[in-house]
Amino acid sequence: MRRPLIAANWKMNKLIPEAVEWVAGIQRLLPGLPDAEIILAPPFTHLAALKPHCKNDSLKLAGQNMFWEPQGAFTGEISGAMLKSAGCEYVILGHSERRLFFHEDDAGINKKISSAQADGLKTILCVGETLEQRNGGQTEEVVKSQLQGALEGIEDKGDLVVAYEPVWAIGTGLTATPDQAQEAHAFIRATLGSILSPEASEGVRILYGGSVNQDNSRELLNQSDIDGALVGGASLAVEKFCAIIASLN
Ligand code: PEP
Repeated sequence: MRRPLIAANWKMNKLIPEAVEWVAGIQRLLPGLPDAEIILAPPFTHLAALKPHCKNDSLKLAGQNMFWEPQGAFTGEISGAMLKSAGCEYVILGHSERRLFFHEDDAGINKKISSAQADGLKTILCVGETLEQRNGGQTEEVVKSQLQGALEGIEDKGDLVVAYEPVWAIGTGLTATPDQAQEAHAFIRATLGSILSPEASEGVRILYGGSVNQDNSRELLNQSDIDGALVGGASLAVEKFCAIIASLN
């Protein structure tokens, strides 16, 4: 019922020529891979250059962030409409690196989601606990409050995706076990049921993110509430990223 979604988050990596080569590579490999929605979130500067290389909608583009205001004197920021006009269908919001390094909070993320919806962009909302919070038994409380804060007053129009990304697993080589991830995803789905509606929560895809690679992806993606993956480090090499897509089989 929920089409699998595998997204590559390049963060601040790659120059445009390497990015174009990666896109050409994935276009060659995708026809032999299982059906899934495939999304690439490159740096903003690469979007317009990559768009003409994304043929047949088989590879969709996402922004890694955006600001909530539509335009104006906000040096260094970009709007949802700008992402849209550069060819994006999605935007990643609330990534833990944005929360940690740029002090983003749930209220600001909430404004960004509203603005993304107004601009016709789909959102990949990232939530997840730190190691300290997990060890303190606060995982559910933290994730619930992130979801409630970010989604307050938001209606699902079929344009919401949630990524569960335990902060302690991002870029560390540590991964949640399939059981830990499934437990968190089931909790997120139940929480979405009370924030949105039970029907809407059944349709929302919940991605797992945190050191996903070709060795651990199959077991993670096999879990009933894991609908895909948000991949950082292992998305930089196209063959490794495609091996993760192949593990959907
Ligand atoms: C991410 O940044 O969203 C991520 C999951 O990174 P990594 O796969 O490198 O842990």
